[in-house]
Amino acid sequence: MLLLLGFLLGGCGLPTPSQRYEKIYLDVFDTVTTVVLYDSSQQSANAKFDELHDILLSYHKLYDIYHTYDGVNNLCTVNQNAGIAPVKVDEKILDLIEYAIGMDTLTSGRMNIAMGGVLQIWQTYRDAGLEEPDSAALPPMDELKAANADAVIGNVVADRLAGTLFVKDAKTQIDVGAIAKGYAAQRAVDAMKSAGVTSMLLSVGGNVCSIGTRADGTRWKVGIQNPYGEGNIAAVQVEGQSVVTSGTYERYYTVDGKRYHHIIDPDTLMPSVRYDSVTVISSDSALADALTTGLFCMPIDEGMALVEQLPDTEALWVLPDGTQQMSGGFSTYIVKE
Ligand code: ADP
Ligand code: MG
Repeated sequence: MLLLLGFLLGGCGLPTPSQRYEKIYLDVFDTVTTVVLYDSSQQSANAKFDELHDILLSYHKLYDIYHTYDGVNNLCTVNQNAGIAPVKVDEKILDLIEYAIGMDTLTSGRMNIAMGGVLQIWQTYRDAGLEEPDSAALPPMDELKAANADAVIGNVVADRLAGTLFVKDAKTQIDVGAIAKGYAAQRAVDAMKSAGVTSMLLSVGGNVCSIGTRADGTRWKVGIQNPYGEGNIAAVQVEGQSVVTSGTYERYYTVDGKRYHHIIDPDTLMPSVRYDSVTVISSDSALADALTTGLFCMPIDEGMALVEQLPDTEALWVLPDGTQQMSGGFSTYIVKE
């Protein structure tokens, strides 16, 4: 009887997703995206990889602030029309912007997508400094302050009824670098779940999302990079959560022997000196991404209180002296070896 039952379940049920398949995309969000998927056949996995790629590419085009694409209004179009006119946009743009405005409030303005002007100045000086290291310089503070006067989130107006996004002031610019990857990755994961995927690990440039566990039931292992060199400071195990790290080592340039990274503290208009990396584990990758950037610019007490108040969310801070701080439940994810 048991044998027969086993046969029936094995024979009539869905094929088990037990084979490991891997894919790399180089054309989304200006970074390397890797996917690991357990599926029943290469053909079935390929169909999911194609769907995932299409989804990520469509988000990439909509959230791109640097390029426009034929036949689509994206965030670059919206920035170009700042102070001129509301732009009719795909609702996926309004979804992101409304989410980002919520995260601005949650982080008390530390993660501010209206800081585009300030961030552009830093990027210009960083690019020049990387190009010509000998003449690398810091942006003048008066220039940063002038740009910051227009970093007003209230100038970003999403109108659901009209289906438009308007940057009211010509000098305000949107930059979604702190949140777009995580937001898009979460939407892609949601779509993959709806398509029946039960076991997947997606990393969009280090923004890591998981679905379920590996085929053998063990949790996915994700390394947390050592901000000071090779290797990891820890590895965590997840089952359905995301792991996102922001670090001083990710993008930086050097001026007079000192490193200046890419996360800008709205209070000082300088790269935040509070931490060397911040990692967030959360069931929501958009939250994790926005939060890593926001926490980076927040005192530890305030950040800890914020994380403790959020459900399904934990954080790990690496302070400049190399010591670590963790929220209450973070250690439950750490792989103990
Ligand atoms: P990464 O892009 O390396 O994964 P983050 O998620 O922390 O890291 O995002 C950093 C990017 O976010 C920067 O490159 C910049 O575009 C933008 N950014 C930097 N500081 C802030 C800030 N305080 N608020 C909003 N966006 C920021
Ligand atoms: Mg972020």
